[in-house]
Amino acid sequence: MKRKKLKVGIVGLTSCEGCQFSIMDLGNRFIDLLEYFEIVEFRLMEEKVFKTPEMDICFVEGSVVTKSNKKKVKEIREKSKVLVALGNCASMGGIHQIKNYHEPKKLIKNIYSNSDKIDNPNILNLGDIIKVDYTIPGCPINNLEFLKLVYTLIREIDFKIPNKPVCHECQSRGYRCVLMDGEPCLGPIVLGGCKAICLKSEMACQGCRGLFKGAQIKNHLDHLKKIGHKKEELDHVLEIYGLRDNIESIIN
Ligand code: SF4
Ligand code: SF4
Ligand code: SF4
Repeated sequence: MKRKKLKVGIVGLTSCEGCQFSIMDLGNRFIDLLEYFEIVEFRLMEEKVFKTPEMDICFVEGSVVTKSNKKKVKEIREKSKVLVALGNCASMGGIHQIKNYHEPKKLIKNIYSNSDKIDNPNILNLGDIIKVDYTIPGCPINNLEFLKLVYTLIREIDFKIPNKPVCHECQSRGYRCVLMDGEPCLGPIVLGGCKAICLKSEMACQGCRGLFKGAQIKNHLDHLKKIGHKKEELDHVLEIYGLRDNIESIIN
């Protein structure tokens, strides 16, 4: 018997669209999904969507910045059986949420001459306003994790990302430990699954995938301070992908 196709949407809010492009990068593996999916909304494939359709699964990329983002995300939630946050912007606010940690009114004056007329709200992630069923972390996402989630949803089984830190993948690949060189690497407290891609280029992990469960956050931050990194410097690193809020709510 022919299986009924799932109605699927891929929606972008305020974002760089890099996570959606990661999906497109799957090439034929994305095309193969059309055996199971009817794509009902995907702006990268179709210019205009007039009305949010009913969806079995909706993947949402981007953070909530504008009034129309807010309206759209609430509509999507009402019309989707399963809602998936796609990437760091959707799950943690993205790089642009750095603004939230500073003085947004002062910042906007440095950018726009007519700043009084410009809406300047705090940047929100999806979980701030709606219920999120699953998250695919990262900036951008690992598109193989997207595929894995898709096939677990098709088979109606649960999706889990192994709860291991970035260090696990970094060291199993034999990369040089930049923490040992004094870099403020967040690998010991951040969820792996990115193949430690930054460490491949000897760039310290800045935490785009969020914390892993059970991370020894305080111990790691104390260690970074002990090797010479000041609190202000560490705060700036933790702000890049929105980790600072999460950490402060856990350790304060
Ligand atoms: S998470 Fe990163 S790659 Fe994905 S939309 Fe946001 S900024 Fe772009
Ligand atoms: S470089 Fe970073 S991710 Fe790799 S082992 Fe050292 S601390 Fe962990
Ligand atoms: S190493 Fe860290 S910053 Fe780089 S992709 Fe992985 S989680 Fe993100």
